[in-house]
Amino acid sequence: MKLLRYFAGLVMALATLHQAFAMNDRDFLPADAALDPAIPAPASVLGYPVGTWHARHDQIVQYLQQLGMASDRLSVEVVGYTHEQRPLLMLTFTNPQRLAQIDTVRSAHLQRVAEGKTPAQSDPLVLWMGYSVHGNESSGANAALLVAYYLAASQSEEVKQLLDNAVIIMEPAINPDGLSRFAQWANMHKGLTPNSDPNHRDHNEGWPSGRMNHYWFDLNRDWLLLTHPESRARIAHFQQWRPHVLTDFHEMGSNSTFFFQPGIPDRANPWISRENISMTNLLGQYHADALDAENKLYFSEESFDDFYLGKGSSYPDVQGSIGILFEQASSRGHLIDTPNGQLSFADTIQNQVTTSLSTFRGALANKSKLQQYQADFVRRTAKQANESGIAGYVVKASADAALNQQWLDILQQHHIKVWQLSADMSKNGTAYQQGRDYFVPANQAQYPLIRSLFSTQQDFGRNEFYDVSSWNIAMAFNLPFNELSSKEGRKLKSLSVKSDGVTPANWQGEAYAYGFDWRDGRAPAMLQALLVKGIAAKIIGSPITVASGDGQISLTAGSVVIPAALPQPANWRNTVRELAQEKQLVVHSLTTGWTDKGIDLGSGAMPVLKTPRVMLLTGEGVSPYEAGEVWHYFDQQVGLPLAMVDVPRLSGINLHDYTHVIMVDGRYAGISDKLVERMKQWVREGGVLIGQKGAARWLSENGLLAAGFRSEDEVLSGFDTQSLKFSDRNQLAAQQRIAGAVFATQLDASHPLTFGLDANQLSVFRNSNLVMDIPEKPFLTVARYSKSPLLAGYAAKPLVEQVAGSAAIVAHRSGRGRVIGFTDVMNFRGYWRGSQRVLSNAVYLAPLITASN
Ligand SMILES: [Zn+2]
Repeated sequence: MKLLRYFAGLVMALATLHQAFAMNDRDFLPADAALDPAIPAPASVLGYPVGTWHARHDQIVQYLQQLGMASDRLSVEVVGYTHEQRPLLMLTFTNPQRLAQIDTVRSAHLQRVAEGKTPAQSDPLVLWMGYSVHGNESSGANAALLVAYYLAASQSEEVKQLLDNAVIIMEPAINPDGLSRFAQWANMHKGLTPNSDPNHRDHNEGWPSGRMNHYWFDLNRDWLLLTHPESRARIAHFQQWRPHVLTDFHEMGSNSTFFFQPGIPDRANPWISRENISMTNLLGQYHADALDAENKLYFSEESFDDFYLGKGSSYPDVQGSIGILFEQASSRGHLIDTPNGQLSFADTIQNQVTTSLSTFRGALANKSKLQQYQADFVRRTAKQANESGIAGYVVKASADAALNQQWLDILQQHHIKVWQLSADMSKNGTAYQQGRDYFVPANQAQYPLIRSLFSTQQDFGRNEFYDVSSWNIAMAFNLPFNELSSKEGRKLKSLSVKSDGVTPANWQGEAYAYGFDWRDGRAPAMLQALLVKGIAAKIIGSPITVASGDGQISLTAGSVVIPAALPQPANWRNTVRELAQEKQLVVHSLTTGWTDKGIDLGSGAMPVLKTPRVMLLTGEGVSPYEAGEVWHYFDQQVGLPLAMVDVPRLSGINLHDYTHVIMVDGRYAGISDKLVERMKQWVREGGVLIGQKGAARWLSENGLLAAGFRSEDEVLSGFDTQSLKFSDRNQLAAQQRIAGAVFATQLDASHPLTFGLDANQLSVFRNSNLVMDIPEKPFLTVARYSKSPLLAGYAAKPLVEQVAGSAAIVAHRSGRGRVIGFTDVMNFRGYWRGSQRVLSNAVYLAPLITASN
């Protein structure tokens, strides 16, 4: 008896102790859920209840697949694979009858959306539940297990009603590679007795964090840019479903509480309508009610904005869906002390489950309103497009066929139609050619998205941004463009875009040499592949005209020639031919070394290239985004494997094993004076040192880069701060930073770093206050900011004035080596294709930089 009482006491004590760590999957779900015992709960597959460990992605996949087999209420689809080859799952839940004919249901829904037709009572709502785009915000993906279980197993009237009235698409883990990195981190530090100290290693993730995907990109910035397979698969599915509501579950700082949208009311993108915000508000009431019932703290209309349209909560907003952001205070690992008390992983999961279910409840209660909203959106958008007076955008194609293709590809994935220009025209000094250049008509279903993608707006009323303020898709690819009025566009006809197929060059006999133009985005990949195969190639520093199998051809500066006269490996001609086919690049056979224009092929001014061995500095203090962008470019587009070395290891490494070192924005204070001296010596002996943003300033401060940077005080000196009130603090801070805007630079088109760029102006993406002065010595400034440099997005006038006329790219010789500095991100978010090319120029064309500091 006594013993029994002892056990009862123990059980009660354990129950109290573990209240914060719900011991049972069912504890997360409503008491009246009436869960069908025939449907497996997550614990049956994980081996532990949700929230006790961080579920690994493979376990999430395994559970959801088992759930799919056990229940006739859901189907599980693999829509793609991550870089690390993890499956990207999409689940579809609805009642079994509808699920059996889901393709018909989907087509009918899409048809209604396209026509702006008001649905009938029996037509389903489409709800999209997306979890943990940031892999280290894992309460979302873990909550998805429970929400999926609930939808599959609950026999309650509420769930029956929901499944009868809705199709629920679930993306349980948007970023499987990041989630896996984080689950490993959190689980490997978990002890039997949890340590809630925020200083504990468990709560302080290593570099790179699980926030990002494989290449260290933020997938919640990639909804528009589609650099990654995760986004491409999702957008294809989104466009196939066009949901009424899309939810996006995140985490934020541990000391916060819980956030749900609406966000800051006056910081929405101008293309997000007031009606959208009021629908968000309508659903907000259901989240508030549900969280009130559990006595949870929460907030809305603060902190987060919906300006940048490449995020999960904003991309849907301009397409007739209601995108909703949720942010839960993070427990980081399993348990953490916060000013609001201890926060456990299970607590964080609970809130994500609660608000998933309140989304269902709110959406169902407002079914006809949401359906009507989407139908109205389509009709309103068509009316706006008609009344806008804008026919669309005429865009000049680049000489880089690969770049054109990538640009078209992004627009097509967003279901934006592009025409080939049907008549020659000229606007603001730019001539556009029929059959070659493009026209993006404004009057199509994606009207708001199109306007936003070509926006050059610079003032937005309240100029404060959580993220960037421009993402102009023509500027990103450095393509000249103009807006056309309805009158100007009247004569244009719909002409489908010809695919830029590659016509192989005419190869007759054994050529004297082979040559290919540097302007094609695939040229660096071709060069790299040739060098790896041991094929000797030269680079031309100025344009030439020469006889070839295709007659007289011109090759621009930077182009590559492969002379038979150099020592070449066996069977090299075949290798060149195979690589040209593989890279889809036109390689001409040159019949002579005697050029009609320009230097001859035997000239000493054409250096023979060496295979580069490039190091990228990484690790703690280095911007993972910028490092990832450099890695992604060289890996995916060029095929050049970078040696990624963490800064603390640099002192133990022989620099002479490398030809180039790339440093991106970061803190390099840990590099000792002694190591700086070694780096200087390495440069003098032939090394090429490349610094981006803060790294360029570090190179300047350490006497490596011959260009000065202005002090922060000087950069901010144009702001009048004398008459400000205490309440103006945030406004001033927002004005004193360039969150992300597009600036114009003028190129020295004769400089090797600009070869292949096909323009004298280069639009760059600026997200810092770094201002580099023009070096006094001539021939060092490769790109300088224009006199009025702001092209699109917000930057305060005093900052624009500082940037105007300053240096953007500087390069010089130093002994036998070279030093190159950029003030801006050269491959911003992997899609800033215009300036991306400068990175491969800095690697392959550095030998042509001859001006000394
Ligand atoms: Zn997040």
